[in-house]
Amino acid sequence: MGREFDYDWLVIGSGFGGSVSALRLAEKGYRVGVLECGRRYRDQDFAKSAWNLRRYFWMPRLGLRGIFRVTAFKDVLIVSGSGVGGGSLGYANTLYRARPAFFTDPQWEDLADWERELEPHYDAAERMLGVTTYEDEGPADQLLREYGEEIGVGETFQPTRVGTFFGEPGREVDDPYFGGEGPQRSGCVHCGSCMIGCRYGAKNTLVKKRSAPTSCSPSAGSADPSRVCPIASGTWSERTRSRSRRSPPPTTAATSPSRSQSHRVSIPIPTPMSRWSPMVEAAI
Ligand SMILES: Cc1cc2nc3c(=O)[nH]c(=O)nc-3n(C[C@H](O)[C@H](O)[C@H](O)COP(=O)(O)OP(=O)(O)OC[C@H]3O[C@@H](n4cnc5c(N)ncnc54)[C@H](O)[C@@H]3O)c2cc1C
Ligand code: SF4
Repeated sequence: MGREFDYDWLVIGSGFGGSVSALRLAEKGYRVGVLECGRRYRDQDFAKSAWNLRRYFWMPRLGLRGIFRVTAFKDVLIVSGSGVGGGSLGYANTLYRARPAFFTDPQWEDLADWERELEPHYDAAERMLGVTTYEDEGPADQLLREYGEEIGVGETFQPTRVGTFFGEPGREVDDPYFGGEGPQRSGCVHCGSCMIGCRYGAKNTLVKKRSAPTSCSPSAGSADPSRVCPIASGTWSERTRSRSRRSPPPTTAATSPSRSQSHRVSIPIPTPMSRWSPMVEAAI
């Protein structure tokens, strides 16, 4: 791709899908920008409980800029993540592989041996997310085990696979996952607050992963792409607005530092796409 563009790829959203795409594209040598409308959270910034509405719920119109987004549609309510790191900030930290029945579903069974096809990708994802088995058994686990036994499926109870660093509780150590390329981490203190946001640096969120190569611009908190449109030169102009007065200054050229300013970056138009990007438009 030509060097006259600011970015080869612009990724909207820094969750599991966006972050991984951006990292892999950057590893291939592309210049990648990531736009994220949520806040950038440090460990100590997460809410101590869900009652801290401002830091837990994402409803910017009400001044709430937390990590938990609730979107109501006519017949369905969707909960999802928000913030640099997307759903990884507040997801429940459990990481399972699909069971055999999934791979042999009649819808796709004939297309490939999916269990074998997907195995290397599961391996890569589990390595990147530091997946391990939670060995302790707390009161909730005991109740689940007892209930399973009571209804006759006790043998299906098994410990949970989680993306957590189980070092010495609360003790900070150098990056244990990526040969020193990742951030320092602390051992899980078993507080059970994974879905509020881990304040201890033990949860393996996307922001705790190996740094992207420098050609991948870090995600920019509070950048809300309000419009992506074609411009005459055969590129897209991307316009952002920042909704938060208190947010730290955005860290990429692809973001706007104030509410009123807009910024243009040039990225190639993927043909044949020449219309508005529906995903971006939907989020205005
Ligand atoms: C409470 C909760 C618990 C969960 N627990 C688990 C679990 O234990 N195990 C599991 O496997 N899965 C779990 N999930 C599901 C998992 O989190 C999602 O499947 C996953 O995060 C989806 O990844 P994604 O990349 O599609 O989107 P996300 O990770 O949600 O990332 C999307 C990102 O895009 C940003 N964004 C959206 N629109 C725009 C826009 N217009 N401009 C800029 N940025 C934008 C959002 O702010 C967000 O950061 C849980 C989900 C929730 C909500
Ligand atoms: S320290 Fe608490 S919030 Fe962090 S991973 Fe462990 S249980 Fe979850």
